[in-house]
Amino acid sequence: MTQSARRYPAYVGIGSNLQGPARQVENAAALLAEIPGTRRIAMSSLYRSSAFGGVEQPDFVNAVAAVLTTLSAADLLAELQAIEHRQGRERNEARWGPRVIDLDLLVYSSEKIETPDLSVPHPGIGERNFVLLPLKEIAPDLVIPGLGRVASIPVNLEEPSISRIA
Ligand code: AMP
Repeated sequence: MTQSARRYPAYVGIGSNLQGPARQVENAAALLAEIPGTRRIAMSSLYRSSAFGGVEQPDFVNAVAAVLTTLSAADLLAELQAIEHRQGRERNEARWGPRVIDLDLLVYSSEKIETPDLSVPHPGIGERNFVLLPLKEIAPDLVIPGLGRVASIPVNLEEPSISRIA
């Protein structure tokens, strides 16, 4: 008898501002669909925004993907880091500096996780429009632990401008 493993919904933030950012985001989104035990079920538009954090650098392209996965949050994070590595991400980059690819585990099921390696829900969700706008596009009814329903989380009016590009 086959036993079907439980699948958990998870949301992944994707960003890049180097080496053809839109292509980098699309590559990472394609690789997400190849993670073992994981199916990509939604993908937002691509958004362009100016960089954040006071470092002079190219604009970012961001998107959010939704997956259903049999992996644990920790195993899914390890797969996201493997994709970053495969796309040439160096681990010693400056915190707010330019990057060829950045994958963040935004939400994992209805779990709240605080370990040295993983904060879920990702603390940037309610603060960054480049996460919030694509998430509102694909999951307005999602309820995030500690933040509530995505559609009712306010956008940050003081952040640099962001526009949908594709
Ligand atoms: P960065 O790639 O600069 O966003 O940061 C990567 C580091 O953040 C890694 O060492 C992760 O262990 C840690 N981290 C903590 N929470 C998360 C999360 N929800 N998604 C991705 N990385 C996370």
